[in-house]
Amino acid sequence: MPEHDLQSVAFPKLDRSQIEALSGCASASLVRYKTGQKLFQVGDRDYRFFVIVSGEIEIVDESGETPKTIVVHTAGSFTGEMGQLTGRPAIASAVARTDSEAYEVTTDALRQIVNRCPEVGDIILQAFIARRQLLRESGSFTGIRVIGSRYSHDTFRIRDFLARNRSLFTFLDLESHPEVGELLGRFGLSVQDTPVVAWGKQVVLRNPSNREIAEALGLRRPLEQTVYDLAIVGAGPGGLAASVYGASEGLSTVVLERTAPGGQAGTSMRIENYLGFPTGITGGDLAERAIVQANKFGAILSVATPVVSLTFDNAYSVLALEGGESIVAKCLLIATGAEYRRLDVDGCARFEGSGVYYAATPNEVQLCQGAEVVIVGGGNAAGQAAVYLSRHARRVYLLIRGNDLYKSMSAYLAHRIEQTPNIEVLLNTTVRRMSGDGRLASVEIVNSETGETRTLETPAVFSFIGATPHTDWLPVEIERDEKRFVRTGPAMAQSAHWTARRQPFLLETSRPGVFAAGDVRSGSVKRVASAVGEGAMAVQFVHEYLKEK
Ligand SMILES: Cc1cc2nc3c(=O)[nH]c(=O)nc-3n(C[C@H](O)[C@H](O)[C@H](O)COP(=O)(O)OP(=O)(O)OC[C@H]3O[C@@H](n4cnc5c(N)ncnc54)[C@H](O)[C@@H]3O)c2cc1C
Repeated sequence: MPEHDLQSVAFPKLDRSQIEALSGCASASLVRYKTGQKLFQVGDRDYRFFVIVSGEIEIVDESGETPKTIVVHTAGSFTGEMGQLTGRPAIASAVARTDSEAYEVTTDALRQIVNRCPEVGDIILQAFIARRQLLRESGSFTGIRVIGSRYSHDTFRIRDFLARNRSLFTFLDLESHPEVGELLGRFGLSVQDTPVVAWGKQVVLRNPSNREIAEALGLRRPLEQTVYDLAIVGAGPGGLAASVYGASEGLSTVVLERTAPGGQAGTSMRIENYLGFPTGITGGDLAERAIVQANKFGAILSVATPVVSLTFDNAYSVLALEGGESIVAKCLLIATGAEYRRLDVDGCARFEGSGVYYAATPNEVQLCQGAEVVIVGGGNAAGQAAVYLSRHARRVYLLIRGNDLYKSMSAYLAHRIEQTPNIEVLLNTTVRRMSGDGRLASVEIVNSETGETRTLETPAVFSFIGATPHTDWLPVEIERDEKRFVRTGPAMAQSAHWTARRQPFLLETSRPGVFAAGDVRSGSVKRVASAVGEGAMAVQFVHEYLKEK
């Protein structure tokens, strides 16, 4: 969308009838503010949504060293951005520039408006999405600051976590940023304390865990001690689709995600074969939209919330979370997907996060811009990474163990790779050794046909080989195949663990009321569309199961 169109979508004016419709839809109280009074402040939780009736409300970015005006709202405009719907704290502050009047609406009432008043709700939703995009693309919004060395494992972990959770952040590299020392000094910290995560002046964390970051940024939601109709483990495309269908159909739905919504798809820079996006969409954008949709319908999504085990209390599923909490649900959907295997190569583990990567996104690109890079794998994920990296790296070596580029890759991608001059495909080739001092410097590769070896100088190896399912947390009652993918469907009637008198539903596991969808399911097609379809279908079976109970 051209910039000026995006601006008008991001900052529309509601007319009198739309404001009346909005206040008729959910409770909104008219409040007066004096010049200089704050309506909310960066970092506030559960802050209000405001529709301005008169006066001027300034939105200020206070996350950096000097406050910057983002926008000034006048009569008919409204405050807020996407994080407000998803329960995240305020990313900016709002202050009355003149004496002003505004309708004040709680976040729950805002959700009601978005849900029940489509005319105004859609304008608000589209504005929120466009505001996020403008902030992300502005290059001037500070947001969260990550201060650390580009070569540090923990700095990489933190940046990866924030990027995958679509948080707005600025990276200040110890190796190259001139003001880092001074900034650390202002926080009363030194280089030894890095990586540091700072948000305005309120939040300053030293080498925080993902969970600590998630708690500080409101990504980890407080979970109620109730019996949910549906608990979904994993927020990849399958889990997110199920959360939208479950919540929109009135099921109390909770989604527990280990790292970041979007799953594997969230690391793709261009998904071209998902219906409805002829020019492709990034996995991050797809996930962001799905998160808004799930929140709009009232699903509860909690990030940095790994499920460590599953037990049963009569017919209920009891999920133990890392840290000791637990969740109880009438039905469970296992949507934990799969992840790429670590390369079985000397030195690989040592360079993870400082030369060995499992995704190719702008985060990794910053670390290998203009360099020669190596990609290992012959599937679509490897193909997409090669095409994406070829725009940023000087040369891309694509290593394939077999002898045919077209064997596991979609033809459109394989063809594009052949057309890209700076991608060199090396068939029958594997990595034998990785070397470097603290960070990766070179890899030794070998051709299995000729025995020829070669050393490539490179700061980055991207691995996309052999996905393994996330099923270690499951008990024996959930049957798995020889590769540990979850088995489902009518054949489960033969399982020793099947206790119901009826036949299992198509996506039901060997335990009644427990379903599986997407990449984690034995025999599933490993694609975004099929994970989404299965997630949606699983909810239909959940309804059937609950009806039967
Ligand atoms: C780089 C890349 C590019 C791709 N491109 C395409 C493409 O263009 N088109 C296409 O159709 N497919 C593509 N795929 C494949 C597609 O992304 C997957 O098929 C799809 O994401 C599977 O969705 P899923 O929901 O089943 O699982 P996943 O996407 O794997 O998501 C599972 C989620 O569960 C979470 N999880 C795991 N264990 C736990 C636990 N114990 N507790 C809580 N959460 C847990 C994970 O963190 C993850 O977020 C691509 C894959 C990759 C890696």
